[in-house]
Amino acid sequence: MMTRAIVKPFDAFCDADVLIASLTRSMLLFASQIGAPFRLRWSRMAEAEADRHTRPPRSKVSDLRVKSDWGDKTLVKPAADDRMSELVDTQLKDRHIIAAAHQAKIPIIVTRNVSDFGTADLKRWHMSAVHPDAFATVMIVAPVYRELLITLAHHRSQPPNDPSSIHAAIGKEHPTLFRAMEELFPGVVADLGSNDPPKYLHRGQCCYLCGRDFESDQVSYLGVHSDCMSAIADCTVLNSAKWTVY
Ligand SMILES: [Zn+2]
Repeated sequence: MMTRAIVKPFDAFCDADVLIASLTRSMLLFASQIGAPFRLRWSRMAEAEADRHTRPPRSKVSDLRVKSDWGDKTLVKPAADDRMSELVDTQLKDRHIIAAAHQAKIPIIVTRNVSDFGTADLKRWHMSAVHPDAFATVMIVAPVYRELLITLAHHRSQPPNDPSSIHAAIGKEHPTLFRAMEELFPGVVADLGSNDPPKYLHRGQCCYLCGRDFESDQVSYLGVHSDCMSAIADCTVLNSAKWTVY
């Protein structure tokens, strides 16, 4: 008999490249506040990198974190040098990310550059690197997505600032999520993207929802077991005080 998967709310470590991408960042932060069962965390070093890439009139992530209700525990401690020295095949510029996440006992890194994180390093520390397109597709169920786009529209003064046009804009960077939600917005076409679709959606040998390793015959392009993914809807209902029934 199949055992029903149980998914508990968990922390996910946010790479600097996701903090820089304002629509992706807002989408994930608001989704977690509306009821998706995760909380984004990051390091001051990642935040500083994002701030360096932010030009006016856009607000720096550090300023937004202080002004917004993102919680006192958003920042994790920087990685210790001895932890970083254990790494072998992660890009040098990203070693502080994976080491800080591991030190904070956060097994998942949400990053737009999955391939920067080494297979051997992820395996040894039992971690996953996941593209935000895959992560959002797993973690955001349809009722939350609909409320999320209404919330984003309310907070944006400049276009895209209505749910349909935000959905189209999300389709440019997040084609998998766009396709998963297209029944909510019939006829809406994704904005044309200047970037190629992500080459890798996931890297790692374990499901970040349950922590179990994948069997060799399991294909999981989103980085989770299918039964774990189906449990997200229940988890979302149970853990959101703000959840709205449509
Ligand atoms: Zn699983």
